[in-house]
Amino acid sequence: MSDTPRPTVVKARPIWLQTSLVGFVLIHVLSLALPFVVGVSAKSVALAFALYVIRMWGITAGYHRYFAHRSYKTSRWFQFVLAWVGASSVQKGPLWWAGLHRIHHRWSDTPRDIHSPKQRGFLYSHVGWITAPDHDGTDLALIPDFAKYPELRWIDRFHWVPFAALTALCYAIDGWRGVVWGAGVSTVFGWHGTFFINSLAHVWGSRRYETTDTSRNNPLLALITLGEGWHNNHHHYMNSANQGFFWWEFDISYYTLRALALVGVVRDLRHPPAHVLREKLVGAANAASATLSGARASAELKLIEARTAVGHAVESAELRINEARAAVGTAATEARASLESAASDARAAVGTAVDNVTNAAETRLTEARTAAGHRMAEARDAVESAVESAVDAATPAKN
Ligand SMILES: [Zn+2]
Ligand SMILES: [Zn+2]
Repeated sequence: MSDTPRPTVVKARPIWLQTSLVGFVLIHVLSLALPFVVGVSAKSVALAFALYVIRMWGITAGYHRYFAHRSYKTSRWFQFVLAWVGASSVQKGPLWWAGLHRIHHRWSDTPRDIHSPKQRGFLYSHVGWITAPDHDGTDLALIPDFAKYPELRWIDRFHWVPFAALTALCYAIDGWRGVVWGAGVSTVFGWHGTFFINSLAHVWGSRRYETTDTSRNNPLLALITLGEGWHNNHHHYMNSANQGFFWWEFDISYYTLRALALVGVVRDLRHPPAHVLREKLVGAANAASATLSGARASAELKLIEARTAVGHAVESAELRINEARAAVGTAATEARASLESAASDARAAVGTAVDNVTNAAETRLTEARTAAGHRMAEARDAVESAVESAVDAATPAKN
């Protein structure tokens, strides 16, 4: 059950009155029936009430706030007084009780919590766990800080002794009637008052702090348990000597501890630091989460708007790109057409020019050829006439 290595588990003595379910049921039946047999007196009712308050104080100020949580310091002799008064409530020994309670805080409302109404049902969290044989022995590893004292180990083992002494005292005060009311009825009321903190204080009441468990603050439970009903406060900061954190959260155990501190019986009472009182407030968490969800919603809205705007921009850009692409295409086609027409014009002009040049050259060649022919004929004629003249001159006159 603990993370540390487990040493020897000391088995509690099987005292039927305190450990077994049979004894537990029997004392209930007797406490219901016997008052009708022995009758009632103011003395016996006052005795029952006084023993209820004193022993409830032994559980809350002693077993719980001192042994389980070390929320204040005291002397060794008063530590034993606390153990004795607590043990007279018949809730087994201080080492057993405080050790298991440390488990409750370590594993609150998880499967390892020994009395979680959330895990094992209301009835088990109320009375099932304390009468179940699986939690019978004391695991000293859970509480080495107090297990080192032999007198505490002794009272943890013989935890029925204070109750036996108390029963004798009740008999001395008011005979069997005193026993029935003081040791019977008062004890049963004390049990259920204490057990309500394990069961009801995790089910019924309000939550000031966002603890990881189901603990609640309940003024009625605080009244009947002398301050233990501020259980949500307690789970928020368990090492405090006061469980009522504010002046209106009455905490009778704490008032008596303050009084005992004044006369020097106890000392170094621990209190929650100021920042702890303001941390993890349920309302603040709600407000923060509301703000957060508001901010998230508005951020999401902005994101959607931004996404839409980006989509529109992309669409319009695509439109423009398409338009530009179309314009470029048209211009290119036009340019190509005009280029082609210019080229064909040029080609035609060149062809015409070449033709003209060729024709002119051919004309000139023909003319030249004709002129040369004429000149050659003239020359031939001139040569022939010269030859004839020469021949005439050379022929002697015959007449
Ligand atoms: Zn609790
Ligand atoms: Zn506690």
